[in-house]
Amino acid sequence: MAVLDANKELNLQAAVAARFEAAVKQLNLEEGLVRYLRHPDREVIVHLPVAMDNGQLEVFDGYRVQHNLARGPCKGGIRYGPDVTLDEIRGLAAEMTWKCAVVNIPFGGAKGGIVCDPSKLSLGELERITRRYTAEILDFIGPERDVLAPDMNTNEQTMAWIMDTYSMHLRHTVTAVVTGKPLDLGGSLGRREATGRGCMIACDETLKRFGWRRDATRVIVQGFGNVGSQAARLMHEAGYKVIGVADIEGGVFNPNGLDVPSLLEYVKEHRTVKDFPRGEPIGNQEILERDCDVLLPAATESVINSKNADRIKARILVEGANGPTTPPADDILFDRGVFVIPDILANAGGVTVSYFEWVQDRQGYFWPEGMVNERLKHIMVSAFNAVTAWGEKYNVNNRIAAYMLAIDRVAYSIKLRGIYA
Ligand code: NAD
Repeated sequence: MAVLDANKELNLQAAVAARFEAAVKQLNLEEGLVRYLRHPDREVIVHLPVAMDNGQLEVFDGYRVQHNLARGPCKGGIRYGPDVTLDEIRGLAAEMTWKCAVVNIPFGGAKGGIVCDPSKLSLGELERITRRYTAEILDFIGPERDVLAPDMNTNEQTMAWIMDTYSMHLRHTVTAVVTGKPLDLGGSLGRREATGRGCMIACDETLKRFGWRRDATRVIVQGFGNVGSQAARLMHEAGYKVIGVADIEGGVFNPNGLDVPSLLEYVKEHRTVKDFPRGEPIGNQEILERDCDVLLPAATESVINSKNADRIKARILVEGANGPTTPPADDILFDRGVFVIPDILANAGGVTVSYFEWVQDRQGYFWPEGMVNERLKHIMVSAFNAVTAWGEKYNVNNRIAAYMLAIDRVAYSIKLRGIYA
């Protein structure tokens, strides 16, 4: 793997680029095509004037990066945060291209972001920022162009505002411009649980290979938001022993297994897992290094890095979050025999059910939850088998195998279409 210097180690775009380079080295692609794939197709930068509650006009920066549309419309979330950068959005957009290709759904990758601090904004201000952003990027989005979705600090409500703004401009309702919508506005059953469920399906497949039983498998989850809480709930229901969870406030650990349903009730009231009474308190970084069989980071980027990778005890790493492991940590984990299910496979359940949502919106016909879950399982298992087969064939770790598979699929589509150069 390409060596990254210390300040680049924590940069997600650098990580995605390093993994891309490591994967293309193994593939016999034309240099010009590789050069093309290194760049996003389009980057849109907008400056959004927004009337604040205090009567002042504020201006916010927003981005939408469309990385590649060879296999279909672009697809990707939008995040809000004070530290959002174009660089980060670029990396995440490329990651989406590879993720959609790994699960073989007909989308390219995109990502968007607005530099703002949602904790300091009223609901009305958030709505106006979202609507103005949508209006500014209107020409570049749509069910056939680029389909948005929630990401950090955006949610079903944000999607409803985007869908409404887009629809008002087009003068008719277009639900398929976003996914992750409320059910009553064309959302899909099973979408809320999809990322966590996909993580569990990938973990189940690993257990089959190892000959392990769920009830003898101890799981630690870092992050207890959409992905982490659903993964913990589903894994607990399926018989796994969830022994530790943490969120940004802190964590709780119980080697005999946590009572996850009670924990979920506790979080509803206290908005954090911290101080849950039936377990010992633990820090949210320390929890990563506790003895367990499966570690499922579902919080944020770069939490497993060259400083702590040699202290990870888990045998299986299921990357619920995007970019939780840095490239130097990848090498350490690989040398130590940790079976890593990389983010672009492990958390692809979310975009897969987003694809189902888009299909249902366009059909105007909605599927029962059982059908959504069954089709998700089929896609996740196929992708898992394809990635591990590439890993075995080329003797590379699962992450590079996933990138190779994805890049190969995208490159094949580009070759079939031809480059309009
Ligand atoms: P979320 O905002 O719902 O939850 C994030 C959780 O992480 C919260 O519990 C928060 O307290 C916790 N957290 C944040 N920083 C932390 C830290 N330093 N230590 C411990 N906990 C911390 O977000 P989410 O939708 O669950 O997404 C989590 C990750 O999964 C992100 O990387 C996101 O990009 C990725 N992801 C999400 C989806 C999805 O469908 N929601 C799909 C694919 C990937």
